[in-house]
Amino acid sequence: MIAYRDIADTNAMIDAATKYKKAIVIGGGLLGLEAANGLMLRGMDVSVVHVMPTLMERQLDSVAGKLLQKSLEERGLTFLMGAQTQELVGDKDDGKGGRVAVGIRPNTQLAESMRLHCNKGIVVNDTMQTVTDARIYSVGECAAHRGIAYGLVAPLFEQAKVAANHLAQFGIGRYTGSLTSTKLKVTGIDLFSAGEFMGGEGTEEIVMSDPFGGVYKKLVLKDDKRRSAKKACSRSTRCASTPRPAAAAAPAPGWSSRF
Ligand SMILES: Cc1cc2nc3c(=O)[nH]c(=O)nc-3n(C[C@H](O)[C@H](O)[C@H](O)COP(=O)(O)OP(=O)(O)OC[C@H]3O[C@@H](n4cnc5c(N)ncnc54)[C@H](O)[C@@H]3O)c2cc1C
Repeated sequence: MIAYRDIADTNAMIDAATKYKKAIVIGGGLLGLEAANGLMLRGMDVSVVHVMPTLMERQLDSVAGKLLQKSLEERGLTFLMGAQTQELVGDKDDGKGGRVAVGIRPNTQLAESMRLHCNKGIVVNDTMQTVTDARIYSVGECAAHRGIAYGLVAPLFEQAKVAANHLAQFGIGRYTGSLTSTKLKVTGIDLFSAGEFMGGEGTEEIVMSDPFGGVYKKLVLKDDKRRSAKKACSRSTRCASTPRPAAAAAPAPGWSSRF
């Protein structure tokens, strides 16, 4: 089993692809799909197990998620959707398979052993102080702010800036959350997603859908302003997005990311 986190894990996966025929990737989010595609391109027979009914549910609505799945299936990946992994068995070195790559989940073991309140991550306030002990700060992937634990670099930079200013007593900046964007790095699949894509009350959606051409674009507007933007295409999928908050006409710091 390989937990996908750093370059050593990447090398371990590349090495595994030379030895094994089958791979199971747990997690149909961004990294899981990129890992699965990479292993498939290295000749492995890859299945993706995902707990939700559609792929990349944190970035795509169900229409775009299904279109993406179809496109990846056409490339050779297989999927087990709505499935929770219960047990990892058969990790024998028989040359046939059974290597598994797993997605990201904050490791809160240390924080919990210190009795810091954790829920999806170490729970922090707007100055990045843990809610349990104001002397302890938490930023980045292990922190849960307003119920969200971000898995991207851009929010971390914003959080770190607030925490550093607070520690240095340079006034009190507040971190109020990030608008993130993601891009799937799978050649041939043009997928971009940013902002709040689900729409909802008080929003207006502009959708362009061409299932046969494999194109889906969605733009969500609120108060005549773009709340976020999303396009997902795979030869096919294009999904558009949601507007940003009305006050933020200029791109928010977290608007662009390395994805
Ligand atoms: C394969 C992969 C690709 C990614 N690609 C992108 C991308 O393209 N764009 C993007 O925005 N994000 C990407 N991410 C996510 C991004 O890397 C993370 O969101 C970001 O690194 C989180 O930063 P962090 O400082 O919170 O945690 P980390 O970068 O994990 O840093 C935590 C550090 O703490 C150390 N540490 C852990 N425990 C202890 C301890 N007990 N004592 C001391 N040190 C400890 C670790 O060794 C590590 O160095 C990717 C992630 C992965 C795994």
